[in-house]
Amino acid sequence: MSRVLIIEDEVAIAELEKDYLELSGFTVETETDGTVGLKRALSEDFDMYILDLMLSGIDGFEICKQIREEKNTPILMVSAKKDDIDKIRGLGLGADDYITKPFSPSELVARVKAHLARYERLIGSNMTENDIIEIRGIKIDKTARRVWVNGEEKQFTTKEFDLLTFLAENPNRVFTKEELFREIWDMESIGDIATVTVHIKKIREKVEMNTNKPQYIETIWGVGYRFKL
Ligand code: CA
Repeated sequence: MSRVLIIEDEVAIAELEKDYLELSGFTVETETDGTVGLKRALSEDFDMYILDLMLSGIDGFEICKQIREEKNTPILMVSAKKDDIDKIRGLGLGADDYITKPFSPSELVARVKAHLARYERLIGSNMTENDIIEIRGIKIDKTARRVWVNGEEKQFTTKEFDLLTFLAENPNRVFTKEELFREIWDMESIGDIATVTVHIKKIREKVEMNTNKPQYIETIWGVGYRFKL
């Protein structure tokens, strides 16, 4: 359930906002003092903040600014004066929306819902799972660029990682050293195809139980290498 913090010094307005939001299924906390409100806003987890502009203690401008320095949580600013809203916009404090008193409670609820939905989509998109390749005992996290062999993390250089990942993504296909060199090293690189052999050797030392009998990267004599599925 989404938690909303309202910082509003006019108790009647705070209660009205609270009632309507609670009817829509939100959990709502209210604070009337700016200083206390800001402290709670920063120390507790809320999904949305509704800030009145003129408050005792710290005002809504400052609260907005301080929340934004620490959190991306949506902020809706409430003001009695249209002019103040223009001022907030001008200050670029990072508020997501503005509403002028008097407003209809249903308008407030609609805006809160819209901002929460947008914010949840944003969080959801940041929490997409990492791109992982798992072949037998090898686990490659392409997003984090980390590799585990039988549960133990191994350190790879950039090129070793790229080469292992490329082979693992194209299993059971034989690649010549020339093909691998072109794929992993750009054309201008200094070096030659012997670099591929050296890197394969390094990778095997990290992933194979017995480098003389590779279980993952096989040498196809006279042709190149293949990642065995
Ligand atoms: Ca006020």
